[in-house]
Amino acid sequence: MSRRWLFADQLGPHFLDDRHQPVLLIESHSVFRRRVFHRQKAHLVLSALRHRAADLGDQARYVRAETYREGLRKAGEPVDVCHPTSRRARSFVQGLDDVTVLPPRGFITGLDDFAGWADARRGTLRLDDFYRFARQHHGVLVAGDEPEGGRWSFDADNREPPPKEADRLDVPAPPAITEDEIDAEVRHDLDRMAAEGVRFVGRDGPRLFPATVTEANARLRHFVKHRLATFGPYEDAMLTDDPFMAHSMLSSSFNLGLLDPLAAVRAAEKAYRSRQAPLASVEGFIRQVLGWRDFVWNLYWYFDAGYRGSNRLVARRTVPDWWQDLDADAVRARCLSDILAGVRDRGWTHHIPRLMVLGNYALQRGWRPAELVDWFHRSFVDGYEWVMTVNVVGMSQYADLGRMSTKPYASGGAYINRMSDYCGGCPYDPKRRVGEKACPFTAGYWMFLDRVRGTLPSNARMARSLKQLDRLRDLAEVKAQEKRRGDRAP
Ligand code: SF4
Repeated sequence: MSRRWLFADQLGPHFLDDRHQPVLLIESHSVFRRRVFHRQKAHLVLSALRHRAADLGDQARYVRAETYREGLRKAGEPVDVCHPTSRRARSFVQGLDDVTVLPPRGFITGLDDFAGWADARRGTLRLDDFYRFARQHHGVLVAGDEPEGGRWSFDADNREPPPKEADRLDVPAPPAITEDEIDAEVRHDLDRMAAEGVRFVGRDGPRLFPATVTEANARLRHFVKHRLATFGPYEDAMLTDDPFMAHSMLSSSFNLGLLDPLAAVRAAEKAYRSRQAPLASVEGFIRQVLGWRDFVWNLYWYFDAGYRGSNRLVARRTVPDWWQDLDADAVRARCLSDILAGVRDRGWTHHIPRLMVLGNYALQRGWRPAELVDWFHRSFVDGYEWVMTVNVVGMSQYADLGRMSTKPYASGGAYINRMSDYCGGCPYDPKRRVGEKACPFTAGYWMFLDRVRGTLPSNARMARSLKQLDRLRDLAEVKAQEKRRGDRAP
């Protein structure tokens, strides 16, 4: 049996043909000089790679090298490798003589099946449609050809605001992660790299996310048993003192390849069938994994390499330093400050802060989408090229003018006020768009609509907002005020 070279995001047993297959793991250091990473992300990836080597023992060759090419030379034997997760890495492995490239693993819907589905859609690629295809194709939450419970989506049940008067959701925290000597060694090595001039962003802190298959499986089991039932209704809500709420915190485990996504989907489905969790919550989780995660992965490959540079809303401003450096203390707007601090301190926030606060703010200000892809990639523990390209360019920044989503995810402060407890303690007022207390999101929303209205395709979902824009009597004042605010931290 040939030796399997595993990249650092291919670490679970499902990347091997046989549990005894010989393995090659390469720890390449040049990437830390080429790219900036969040310190906790660098820690997580190195820790996961070294833990996998320790688990495999003599079954694995562990090579430390400046580059992958040098690592392969040191290994000195032919290997095979599963299809890597970025275009750059794919071109690299395809150009190597002694490396056989196998189809991808770690996702549920194959590239060919997706392409067949997408080709038949003639350019209208929507999650709901793909998700329905995937549910039927893989036989998930279906009874015959029909969806379990009579509906494909329970999204409308899963948009509750946070419970009133509660600082936290009443769910048990995931099993704590205990760092070991491998983590201590990784921390020591990263400290040394930093002293030698390698730049990281964000703060170091205790490891919060699984680095081993055992830790990831424990978190999954705990989530399904104790948190999944509450996840659904509150999946879009935000609480200042409860950044994790009932989210699974498994995205980094999927993206490191520690967890098989189909196994996680089946575990959630089993919880529904054994009446441990309600259908709406289970469907919401499965939509994220079988639906959204696979949709984004497949679109990354289905679209061409130029997709990353899409900028159809002509966003020309450069991302400012306070944002790049995660300088939350420079920000007075409570929602943005808290969420930026979460990125700085944990390298993670759940999907609504990413989309409706961070992405929304960047979209309104007209920051360059490609710079934002880099920022999300480096700042989040679960950030990879494939996942951030489509999420940021297509969904969050609408820079493809709707190739994969129906409208821009822009909103004013009213949405944030409804879905969080942020606005109460903020110096701004979500209802105001002019004056000292004008909410930067509310004012920014009208400024954004005014800027892009000539570029937006005609779209029933935007028609009402554009009519409201026409009726705004103080639009000139809003624009002048936001021009003065510019890209300074709000
Ligand atoms: Fe955010 Fe505006 Fe609410 Fe302040 S008032 S927390 S800036 S949405």
